[in-house]
Amino acid sequence: MIVETQRTLALQCPACQGTQFHEFSIFEVGPQPHPLQCKCGFAHGQVSRTGSRYTIDAFSLAGERVRLIYPAKEFLRARLMSLIEPTFGDTIGFLGRDKDVSEAVSHSECFQFGSDGAELEDFENPDVMYAVLARLQRLAGEGKITCQCDHPSVGIDIYPDRVELVCSFCGSAVVIEASAPYHQERVARLHEIVMEPSSYASLGECLKPLF
Ligand SMILES: [Zn+2]
Ligand SMILES: [Zn+2]
Repeated sequence: MIVETQRTLALQCPACQGTQFHEFSIFEVGPQPHPLQCKCGFAHGQVSRTGSRYTIDAFSLAGERVRLIYPAKEFLRARLMSLIEPTFGDTIGFLGRDKDVSEAVSHSECFQFGSDGAELEDFENPDVMYAVLARLQRLAGEGKITCQCDHPSVGIDIYPDRVELVCSFCGSAVVIEASAPYHQERVARLHEIVMEPSSYASLGECLKPLF
């Protein structure tokens, strides 16, 4: 089961009465609130994560504050879900995959609820998983995750107990376990990940060349 790292949130704005799209990486959302600003200038919400729960603070179209809390499995995996303001049951926005959210906004009467419906296991150890993802994101941001092939293009697939770095050009992959505290420590010590072209390795196996 693959978790998409990009999420799209469409939120209605009480200031301009428009719909503003926000795209963010799940790596950007942590205990520090990730601000959501409308193009009209109004700060119409924020997203944050506490443990494995995600909180969206937003406004109803009438300008009332709305707080919505979702478990990680829903927030991270839903193909499309609608954000329902609890007092009147109004839909104030959508969260999910970019394509599905855009479609839902353009025909907002015929959106679908819910997620993919496949196995919805939580991460085995959310704290370790988030720490591993945060570390990988930082390395990626510094250009320290690369593949030695001609056209490196490294992406990440997330599973309940591990992540896999995959180069979409040559198909090489590195499996990084992320379910036990020592996995987190191992990743914390990494300074760089260089993938061999067309190879399949686990992080344990390729630790040597990394140092
Ligand atoms: Zn606005
Ligand atoms: Zn490659």
